Amino acid sequence: MKSLYDFTLKELQDEMVSLNQKSFRGNQVFSWVYQKRVNSIDDMSDVSVSFREVLKEKYTLSLPEIIREQVSYDGTVKMLLELEDKQSVETVLMRYDYGNAICVSSQVGCNMGCKFCASGLLKKQRDLKAYEMVSQVMKMQEYLDKEGKGERVSHIVIMGSGEPFDNYENVMRFIRICNDQKGLAIGARHITVSTSGLANKIVDYSKEGLQVNLAISLHASNDETRNKIMPINKAYPLNKLFEAIREYSKNADRRVTIEYILLKGINDSLTNADELVELLKGTFAYVNLIPYNEVKENEFRRSEKKEVRAFYERLKSKGVNVTIRKEFGTDIDAACGQLRAKKEGVISE
Ligand code: SAH
Ligand code: SF4
Repeated sequence: MKSLYDFTLKELQDEMVSLNQKSFRGNQVFSWVYQKRVNSIDDMSDVSVSFREVLKEKYTLSLPEIIREQVSYDGTVKMLLELEDKQSVETVLMRYDYGNAICVSSQVGCNMGCKFCASGLLKKQRDLKAYEMVSQVMKMQEYLDKEGKGERVSHIVIMGSGEPFDNYENVMRFIRICNDQKGLAIGARHITVSTSGLANKIVDYSKEGLQVNLAISLHASNDETRNKIMPINKAYPLNKLFEAIREYSKNADRRVTIEYILLKGINDSLTNADELVELLKGTFAYVNLIPYNEVKENEFRRSEKKEVRAFYERLKSKGVNVTIRKEFGTDIDAACGQLRAKKEGVISE
């Protein structure tokens, strides 16, 4: 059985034709799935009863169960979802003035092993299929539908657990499904993919012809520090990474976001700020400074407010476009991977 959440509109039209239907049948089904958001094929009332039976034999429309749900005082919602093979993934809904953003996981666990990250504590179990990423969006949309205020998921960041470029094809398919005007219609400019820096995939991605945003988890201003906290840097050191970023800027004609977690005593000095300014020369980038969400089990601590300010001011004074990320749901461990890591007993409550 295949999930209906795994098809782009075009594929669903072709699929219907292969079942001796008009391709328009694909549009009808796609609209039931994403616009009317029914939970069962039986509810597709403009599809004949006999064809609904055919659909039920071939496809599912089931969504994962919620194992755990936490709602923060600021309205942030975090869900741990159970997949068919009993693996679990987490997804987070964040409310901004401009809309509702959801943070999607792309793999169960992650193999990149970044030292500061809770997802990295759990080795990758497997990649997520496109429909399993779509399901995360649909679960949060269901949550909003139940609130009854007519709100929709308007933005997607692929920043949950997993390295999206280590699951490239499924992630691209997921983006195309969410972006479809006749479906969830989430604009490409409202979707952001975040990568730890797989340079070769950054170049591939620059040629997809998508208007989707790209964010790079940099988190260090020199190879020595980056090698220590992000093992991927040994495969793609900073010069390779920035070569790819420059190529991306050229091919995609898009600005990149550089994510930089400020870690106390590790990467937060003014010398680091100056090194960062040097790295960014000749790129079309904007820097997002991220307050570290502490994980008790490791040695990393967040930088003091004073250091964060000084780092920010230094970048700004040198003409870098920089912001400090707003924090969400700090009372519910909204940082990626923390909820699942707790369930698996890797980090404590
Ligand atoms: N694997 C991808 C996407 C998922 S991680 C990547 O690394 O880019 C999304 C972002 O959250 C990354 O920038 C990551 O470095 C950051 N992150 C991980 N653990 C964090 C923590 N405890 N506090 C704050 N940010 C964290
Ligand atoms: Fe994986 Fe990203 Fe966490 Fe690194 S920061 S371990 S790449 S999820």
